[in-house]
Amino acid sequence: MTDQTRPIALFDMQAQQALIRPELDRRIAHVLSSGRFINGPEVAELEQRLAEFAGCAHAVGVSSGTDALQIAMMAEGIGRGDAVFLPAFTYTATAEVPLVLGATPVFVDVDPETFNIDLADLERRIELVIKEGKLKPRAIVGVDLFGLPADWPALNAIAKKHGMVTVDDAAQAFGAFLHGKSLGCHADVTTLSFYPTKTLGCYGDGGAMLTESAEKAELYRSLRTHGEGGGRYEVLRTGMNGRLDTLQAAILLCKMDLFAQELKDRAKVAAWYGARLTGKVALQRVPNEAQSAWGLYTIRCTDADQRARVQAALKAESIPFGVYYPKPLHHQPAYQGAHAAGLSAAPALTVSEALCHQVMSLPMHPYLTEAEVERVCAAVLGAL
Ligand SMILES: *Cc1c(COP(=O)(O)O)cnc(C)c1O
Repeated sequence: MTDQTRPIALFDMQAQQALIRPELDRRIAHVLSSGRFINGPEVAELEQRLAEFAGCAHAVGVSSGTDALQIAMMAEGIGRGDAVFLPAFTYTATAEVPLVLGATPVFVDVDPETFNIDLADLERRIELVIKEGKLKPRAIVGVDLFGLPADWPALNAIAKKHGMVTVDDAAQAFGAFLHGKSLGCHADVTTLSFYPTKTLGCYGDGGAMLTESAEKAELYRSLRTHGEGGGRYEVLRTGMNGRLDTLQAAILLCKMDLFAQELKDRAKVAAWYGARLTGKVALQRVPNEAQSAWGLYTIRCTDADQRARVQAALKAESIPFGVYYPKPLHHQPAYQGAHAAGLSAAPALTVSEALCHQVMSLPMHPYLTEAEVERVCAAVLGAL
């Protein structure tokens, strides 16, 4: 097939697989013959590679990005009576975890240009929670939405003022940099997801936790294995089954060989989009100090009608797109109750609500060609 007729993928895992197939086959065959499917040496090898890449002291492999968030909060003893502040405009997992642990998610609005947690709104809601006195502020979960780092120095300063911990939900953003440093060392703990379509994805579920604290890393290792202590059958605390499979670690090791180049290629694709779309449609603003990992390339239409026109134009050209997210979390049936319980008179979450009617994500992966980006942009521009 020529470039003109090859279907454009929203995410492309086939092109990448073709590049590393011999190494994948070799690594997978090695795990199959070793028989060490749980806690095989590949898990420790991957943890080493992740920590090196992120420039942080410790990486702990876990079973998913959601479980990484859960272990992070369990390690802080977060539970009933605790408030966990998080953006209303994010994936459901961010809000689900505090609820599973009995804590209360307090939804915070996002910035209209970066789509990340709004600092002024965060401070206002922390003050309101303190004033109402029902919940104890315990943690801020910042999300680096679509690959763009949140303002971590500011979030850490706010957390410190109130004795809270910071959790960096970097599920969409591994490979992003802030002030020249990789995500992984900007919050008390950073959580990653290796879901197949993330910037670094495996062939199933997987995740990791990054931290500078040796003590916390040891606690995470215990919690991911049922709270075990030094000996296998010594149980020190209530934990969970949150381990990363050896096979997934082996697959991720193959993908790590491509990762740095893929990040450069994602940035190149984003630049091609930017050159054609800047000034024509609102784009996620990347602050000077940030380098996005470009997990998703998202545009913000003026309203739902314009978005519907762009979607129809892309459909007509068989170009895939996604809407992340069509509904803010505080409007989800599962979280409405928690939202109401968190603050008795919560201010509106107007930006989060507006974005859900306006945003859409265009194809973004390292194997897009400039001609493909040109086709996507022609369809978008023709529909504005
Ligand atoms: C994908 C994602 C998660 C969950 O990761 P899983 O590995 O699917 O459990 C959490 N938070 C955000 C922001 C995500 O995008």
